[in-house]
Amino acid sequence: MIRISRRECLAGLGLAGVAAVRAEPGAPSQAAGPRAPRRLDLTDYRPRSCLHLPATRVERARYPVIDVHTHLGFSSSGRHGVASEEMTFVAQPGTLLPVMDRKNVRTMVNVTGGFGKGLAESLARFDQRSPGRFISFTEPRWDRLSGPGFGREQADDLARAREAGARGLKVLKTLGLVLREGGATGALIKVDDRRLDPMWDACGSLRMPVAVHVADPEAFFLPTDRFNERFEELNNHPDWSFHGGDFPSFRDLVDAFDRVVARHPRTEFIAVHFGLNAENLASVSERLTRYPNLHVDTAARIGELGRQPRAARAFFEKHQDRILFGTDAVPNGDDTPQQVFGDALYEIYFRFLETEDEYFDYAPAPVPPQGRWCIYGLGLPDAILRKVYHDNAARLLGIEAR
Ligand SMILES: [Zn+2]
Repeated sequence: MIRISRRECLAGLGLAGVAAVRAEPGAPSQAAGPRAPRRLDLTDYRPRSCLHLPATRVERARYPVIDVHTHLGFSSSGRHGVASEEMTFVAQPGTLLPVMDRKNVRTMVNVTGGFGKGLAESLARFDQRSPGRFISFTEPRWDRLSGPGFGREQADDLARAREAGARGLKVLKTLGLVLREGGATGALIKVDDRRLDPMWDACGSLRMPVAVHVADPEAFFLPTDRFNERFEELNNHPDWSFHGGDFPSFRDLVDAFDRVVARHPRTEFIAVHFGLNAENLASVSERLTRYPNLHVDTAARIGELGRQPRAARAFFEKHQDRILFGTDAVPNGDDTPQQVFGDALYEIYFRFLETEDEYFDYAPAPVPPQGRWCIYGLGLPDAILRKVYHDNAARLLGIEAR
């Protein structure tokens, strides 16, 4: 067994000086001042673990990977969450492919492929230039939502998008949290609004899976106060909080989504971010059992899964045919280190899924960005890894097995 001295440990906390004064035997007793606990700004706190543990570097996934959740471009955000056809791309195939090859990532699914002219640009830039390596999803054009024929028009658009090469539909969390009737002042559009039914149905008949993001972590719906487990993240990004105002509750949003899934049994839904509720695996498990057309991805949620490794491992065993590998990777944007595309990001995901390493960072960042905790690997068996990395997504996306 390797031991570490108390002094070494404390040095990691930047408290060595104070500790030395305290620990000195026979030192004259000090006045209350120097002995009083110091106050330390949370933003300065950088504890270094004193655990001596094996660290396994997994440079390359054990099986070929389909990353079902990445963002290689974005529709320019218009007013009130209504996106336009203009795209902003954040990556070129030429810079992505070497990383993908090194990491054994066969295919990246660019979920925010846009619509109309924007989708055509996404397809030309990625899918058509590197067939098989990139797959684009399309997105709804919400600017027509207030019109009478929205659902029908959207269904027609989807058929055209499918024809052009899009392989699925992505719905961002703007639905339920941002999009409103008649612009800025109207009521929020409900996730299970009946006007959307033809759109969900069309995805089923066109065999286009729908990746849906509604709600956000449970903590984003709670006050940003000292009891909030994601205080630092919300404090750094106040606009990520959905507490107060006329926002629906977390539960209302997820329940509305579940009603959509129940109403459209022929449509395959991917509830991103581990079923929208990685904090409550029992609930996600129950929903997967209830809805055979529901799937989940791992995107940006290994921080949640890895801090409950026994529950997560049991979940992966039970629902091994319904879990898709996703990272939420974005090739730029230092704001969300848990999503920055690159070798480091993939290696953390692989380590989490493949090894039984303990207590390691879930993001390549000096401070854990989603909450101050570390994660534990699941050590999944080969048969499950193969499904999660590749086979489940291949089946859903209609990619032939190799
Ligand atoms: Zn995403």
